[in-house]
Amino acid sequence: MTEEPTAHVELDDEALKAVANETRLRIVVDLGATVRDGAYGTRRFSELLDAVGVTDSGQLTYHLDKLREQEYVERTDEGYRLTLRGLRVYQFVRSGVLSRAPDIGPLTIDLTHDDCGEPLSVRYEDQRMYGECEACDEIIGVNPVQPSAFDPGDRESMSDAYRQRFWMDNFAMTQGFCPYCGGDVTTRIDYRHTEAVPTESQGEDPAITFTCEVCRWFINTTIEFPGYLHPAVVAFCHERGLDIREHNPVNLPLEFPEYVVHSEDPWRVAVTYAYDDDEITLTFDDDLTVHDVTVGADESGRPESE
Ligand SMILES: [Zn+2]
Ligand SMILES: [Zn+2]
Repeated sequence: MTEEPTAHVELDDEALKAVANETRLRIVVDLGATVRDGAYGTRRFSELLDAVGVTDSGQLTYHLDKLREQEYVERTDEGYRLTLRGLRVYQFVRSGVLSRAPDIGPLTIDLTHDDCGEPLSVRYEDQRMYGECEACDEIIGVNPVQPSAFDPGDRESMSDAYRQRFWMDNFAMTQGFCPYCGGDVTTRIDYRHTEAVPTESQGEDPAITFTCEVCRWFINTTIEFPGYLHPAVVAFCHERGLDIREHNPVNLPLEFPEYVVHSEDPWRVAVTYAYDDDEITLTFDDDLTVHDVTVGADESGRPESE
């Protein structure tokens, strides 16, 4: 496991200083806005002068040189354009994650809580989107969502942003890829151990923690989530006209009736997903490799062992 930042993540303050300037940020944002139709756009010097609002061409040259030194901007025969590094700065700025975003909600959405039948809500706070049941005072899940990912006046777009972020992160982390920094992800199955879970219920349900070895971003999820996008479950859903990605994870059409822990060292956990009278059981090991797939219940109604 990586304990110290590796060489390529040394703190490069010259690179950050190059964009820590209002005029240079305006240049990056203006050049970013010219990217369209599947191609990087280019601005001529005179166009940039107008767009950025600098009256002195010497000033613009000075700022462009600063950006070019750090390889955020490059000069071509047609003018100036962003490099991939510059585009990443633009995306970061444009996503709104560096700005203070107002908190919103909770707002009820068009989904109900399985446990109580009351409407579920979404709430946006500190750039996290919460799915929750106000009646039960229960948070169902929380995902980091960029302010650019939804329309603050539209509760269904907030729900959509939650859904998209969840499936994206769940899929990436299950594949061992950090969606935020690209680092390797380790997977750990254990009984629930997070502080959010009251002590008396710890030790009951096996849960999964994904941790990025580079940025240390982590996701805690219950045991069933990594299976939803497994090909066997996707096929099971497809045959029944379901596309699980279209469903908000706070209220899924598949029931998760049970799991069976066959062993803890190494882990072998059978998870059963049910829809109507059918069910599918996946048996996971420590790194979430699926060792066994069973469609349909056995005679005892319990998932089959390996
Ligand atoms: Zn409820
Ligand atoms: Zn990471």
